[in-house]
Parts: sequence; C-alpha cells; structure tokens
Amino acid sequence: MPVTGLDPYDDQNIFARILRGEIPNRTVYEDEFALAFHDIAPQAPVHVLVIPKGPYVSAVDFAARAPDGEIAGFWRAVGRVAGILGLEQEGYRLLSNHGIHAGQEVPHFHVHVFGGGPLGRMIQAA
Ligand code: 5GP
Repeated sequence: MPVTGLDPYDDQNIFARILRGEIPNRTVYEDEFALAFHDIAPQAPVHVLVIPKGPYVSAVDFAARAPDGEIAGFWRAVGRVAGILGLEQEGYRLLSNHGIHAGQEVPHFHVHVFGGGPLGRMIQAA
C-alpha cells in the first residue's frame, strides 16, 4: 500500500518493528540517533537504509518536528555510514521517497544509500 504524503505515523510499520528488535536486520551502523541496515531487496551493489530512531513519516516531517540535535545526529550518521561502506572516494547517491508519486512503501523516514558502482541516470520515468 503506497504511503500518502499526509499519512500519520503508524508505529506498526516495518521499520518501527526493526527498531524495536521485532524483525531482524543486517546492521551497518547504529548510534543514539540512527540505525543503518542493508535493504532486503537491493537495487544497487550497495543499498543501505538509514533511519532515525524517532517516529517520523518523511523527510519533511523529520525536518519539521525533530529537535535540532536529532537532525544533526541523523545526518552525521548518514555520513558515517558512507564511510563505513567505503563509498566516499567513488561516490554514492542518497534518496528519500515521499508519498505516492515517489512510491514510498514504508511510512518511517529513511534515506537510501546507493553505491558500489555506476548508478546511471538519476531517475527514470515510470
Ligand atoms: P521506500 O519505497 O519506502 O522508499 O523504500 C522502502 C525500502 O524498504 C525498499 O527498498 C524495501 O526493499 C525495503 N524494505 C522493506 N521491508 C524491509 C525489511 O523488512 N527489511 C529490510 N532490510 N528492508 C526492507
């Protein structure tokens, strides 16, 4: 079921369950602000998801409601993840989907980290 841009936070979403330890994940990095883990259906040689620990539906929701320290901590974690994955020299792509047209599936804000090889064009028309 696609997530609309206006859905409220649902604490039964799959990433909330991963954060609670109810579902296993392949963790890359964790700190007080963020958890990073491999995507279950990778779309690039490296495909990792970075999620904040707090309950935010989307990037805009996160920016609007999270305390400044959580926002700073989250983005620092994204940078650390790129380093841990060895992507800094060759580069990588960050992507966050919001709502129906973007095909957002999970209503917990997440940043996709893609890398490990040339990534092609930025978007393809559906
Ligand atoms: P979205 O389309 O919401 O931006 O991306 C959701 C991502 O979560 C997809 O790339 C999908 O493969 C991934 N995903 C969905 N369920 C799980 C899961 O249970 N574990 C992991 N590791 N990834 C998941």
